[in-house]
This record gives sequence, C-alpha cells and structure tokens, in this order.
Amino acid sequence: MLSKRLEQLAKYLKQPIQFADIGSDHAFLPCYVCLENPTATAIAGEVNQGPFERAKQTVVEHELTDRIEVRKGNGLDVLTKDEVNQITIAGMGGKLICTILDEGKEKLSSVKRLILQPNIDAQLVRKWLNDHQYEVVAEEIISEDGYTYEIIVGDHQANTTNLSEKELLFGPFLLQEQSTVFMDKWTSEKEKRIKLIDQMKKATSIPEEKIDRLKEEITWIEEVIQHDN
Ligand code: SAM
Repeated sequence: MLSKRLEQLAKYLKQPIQFADIGSDHAFLPCYVCLENPTATAIAGEVNQGPFERAKQTVVEHELTDRIEVRKGNGLDVLTKDEVNQITIAGMGGKLICTILDEGKEKLSSVKRLILQPNIDAQLVRKWLNDHQYEVVAEEIISEDGYTYEIIVGDHQANTTNLSEKELLFGPFLLQEQSTVFMDKWTSEKEKRIKLIDQMKKATSIPEEKIDRLKEEITWIEEVIQHDN
C-alpha cells in the first residue's frame, strides 16, 4: 500500500502525465500513478544500486516496463532535455532537493510543474522555487506515523510572486490554512529553537547572528500560534 504522503503527492500531477520521480527508491510512486492513469508514463531515477534494483523489480512485478523506465544516475542527469513535463522529488532533505534542481537546471526547460516533499528545510525549497520562476501554487502538510511532511507544488511562470521571509518559512498556503498539523508542528519547532539557543549560549564562541535569527523566528512562530488561540 502506498503511503498517505506519496498518495497525496500524486494528486498534484497534472494530465497529461509524463513525469520523472527522482530518488524513487522502490518506484512505488511511478507504479501507483501509472496503474491509476492508463496514459501516464514515468522515469524513475535512482543514484544508488540497491534502490535502483528495487525500482526495476517493482516495475517488472507490476508489468509496467512499457511505461516506466528505471534509470541509474545522479539527480536530473538521468533525463535528457524535454523528456518530461513534471518532476517529483520526495523523502529527502530540502538542501539535497535544491542541489539536485540546481545541478540539473538545464533539464527543466520542459518542466511545467515541480512537486517536492522535503523532510526538513522546506523553506530552502520554497526559496529555490521563488528564485527560479516557479510559483508556489499549492502546499499540503500531513502527519503520518508520527512524522510531519510538507508537499510543495511549484508551477513554472513568467511572473512569480515574491514570497516574504515569513512565507518562505511557514509556506504561504499553510500559513493561511493554519491546520492542526501545522499548529502542532510550529509549537514543537518553537521549543526546538528555544533549546537550540540555550545550547548555543553554552558554546565557547557564541554565533550571535544565528541566535538573532532563531529569536526572530520564535517571534514569528508566537505570532502565528497565538493568533489561533
Ligand atoms: N522518493 C521515495 C519516497 O519519498 O518514499 C524514496 C525516498 S528515499 C528516503 C531517498 C532516495 O533518494 C534513496 O533511495 C536514495 O538512494 C535516493 N537519492 C539520494 N540522492 C539522490 C540523487 N542525488 N539522485 C538520485 N537519487 C538520490
């Protein structure tokens, strides 16, 4: 059974679906999408041998070898130009997602939509989208097995709205919605920042700039979570 996280992510693929799933591991997402959509095609990219083998096996088991190609390589290196109209990258840190997109920028000319699910550092992903003419058009925050996940959808547009520092951190749509999962996440993020400041203050050289930034974020978080009370 596909995780709720990947099932939600799949909903943001737009017809006609010709997508690449980078860091596909078992290729569960491409298989699910192609089984649900008879006209969909996919490329599953994997840099590591084990997951690459697993992905091939899943595709064979589902008899989808005519519609899903499994390719081994780093990030977007597995793609040639104009092959896909959408890309999904899920289950990695935001920093790695940004590196993959940065290193593969020349492969994005045909990519109308990026559907990204960073495990941490979602603000880096929003910044990347904002800086590269992808408008954040949808966001989702979900909780599964005790973890919180954010899904961020970016559409390529000539003119994009500049996100504020606060919107980059919280997510423009998530900030508007203020769901229970969102509120719980930021209540816990506030505590994490308080502890981090305490630890930093005990260090021999105090990184003042970092502490100031964390304090600023705590103020923003308080504004957001108190607003709900
Ligand atoms: N996308 C799946 C998901 O969300 O369930 C799998 C996530 S798994 C935690 C991350 C996968 O990304 C691993 O299988 C890893 O081998 C792969 N990966 C990491 N860096 C990569 C890169 N630069 N290019 C392609 N795949 C990468």
